[in-house]
Amino acid sequence: MEKFNDLIEQKVFETQFIDTHEHLMDESERLDCVEPFIPCDDWALLLNLYFGFDLILGGISKSEIGRLFSKNVSPIDKWVILKEYWPYLKNTASGIVFRTTIRILYGIDEISEDNIPELQNRYEQTRKKGFYKQIIRELANIRHCHVHSPNVACKKSESPDLLYQDIALNGMIQVTLNSYSVPENVKINNLTDWHTLIDGWFAEYGHAAKAVKIGNAYFRRLDFERVEASEVEEIFSRKINLQTNGPEEDKKLQDHLFWYCVDKATAHGLPVKMHTGQWAMNNAMNMHWVKENPSDCASLCRQAPDTKFVFFHLCYPHYEEMLSLAKNYANAYIDMCWSWSLNPLAAKDFLKKFILTVPNNKIFTFGGDDKIVENLVGHAHVARQGIALAFTELVSENWLTLGDAMDLVDHLMYKNAEKIYGK
Ligand SMILES: [Zn+2]
Repeated sequence: MEKFNDLIEQKVFETQFIDTHEHLMDESERLDCVEPFIPCDDWALLLNLYFGFDLILGGISKSEIGRLFSKNVSPIDKWVILKEYWPYLKNTASGIVFRTTIRILYGIDEISEDNIPELQNRYEQTRKKGFYKQIIRELANIRHCHVHSPNVACKKSESPDLLYQDIALNGMIQVTLNSYSVPENVKINNLTDWHTLIDGWFAEYGHAAKAVKIGNAYFRRLDFERVEASEVEEIFSRKINLQTNGPEEDKKLQDHLFWYCVDKATAHGLPVKMHTGQWAMNNAMNMHWVKENPSDCASLCRQAPDTKFVFFHLCYPHYEEMLSLAKNYANAYIDMCWSWSLNPLAAKDFLKKFILTVPNNKIFTFGGDDKIVENLVGHAHVARQGIALAFTELVSENWLTLGDAMDLVDHLMYKNAEKIYGK
């Protein structure tokens, strides 16, 4: 008889994910190397996001990292830059994701001086028309991804059954007029015009979108209060006329627009996804704000009981508080995106505790949170390893029967997402 851990692992690896959070651009944009998102077009591109942030933590200089991701440095020479830091980073989760990706995708077991030409060759052979679908569906075993394109309010997807575009609220809340999809023929003179534009975006994109996404936690606390339009009309006018507002006035305006957009999303039946916890970018994180995220989220849940809030990244490192939040508020959901490559042991610990603490229809277990599609192969593999291990431990510790564990896999990997976001 097969051992139960093998049965669990087999089931988890055979089951398709619905991936609830990525930053992938459309395939044609990737193939066209649209800058600044695609700074180079060689194997080092796979390291451009989370591994790149870890390289900065490891002490790489600005000029070295510039060269690593430059179009003007030969792919072969890039190993010389990476090699000094590789031993320090290869065992971090972002290093493990990279190593797993090149093993599964390119058949390369371990990067070294000898196989850089082969790595580059395999990169080029893989990166061609149709590779998104092949990587997402066949290699990462993902049915479809929800995509957040943070620099536009919303866009139509090039492959609408593979990449679903979330509506991005950051710019609507922060009133970003330029480079934020404000059509050229639209003139914004006052707050009513801004409301009308937001209404128009929801009318146009609300049907195709699965959710809205808010990333404002990178810029402030999440203590959004309800503020009437009449209280912020003048502040808005000063803002668009490039006059200065004080920080309290800016907060009031954002608070008003946050709730305007969140109420609009709720009226359209769209869940509200929010960044919480750890910041990806280095040397800037305000840990006081991050620490306040769970209690600020509780206040949001209280203020809008009809809104489904989906909180991202376990609010790492404050994940016990997020268990408590999901345990108390019916409209608080948790999305584990990014957590498997942030701290996979915390993610496994969280998942085990969640299953024993909170009704399990309130969790989504995977999103790569990546802009480079190749990395989904390694990241989804690492996530499946973590999920299988969480179940195996729960069974061996006698918290779950094998049958109960096997029954839960489909729910956690795609059925919960189907239920809240639609198929
Ligand atoms: Zn993200």
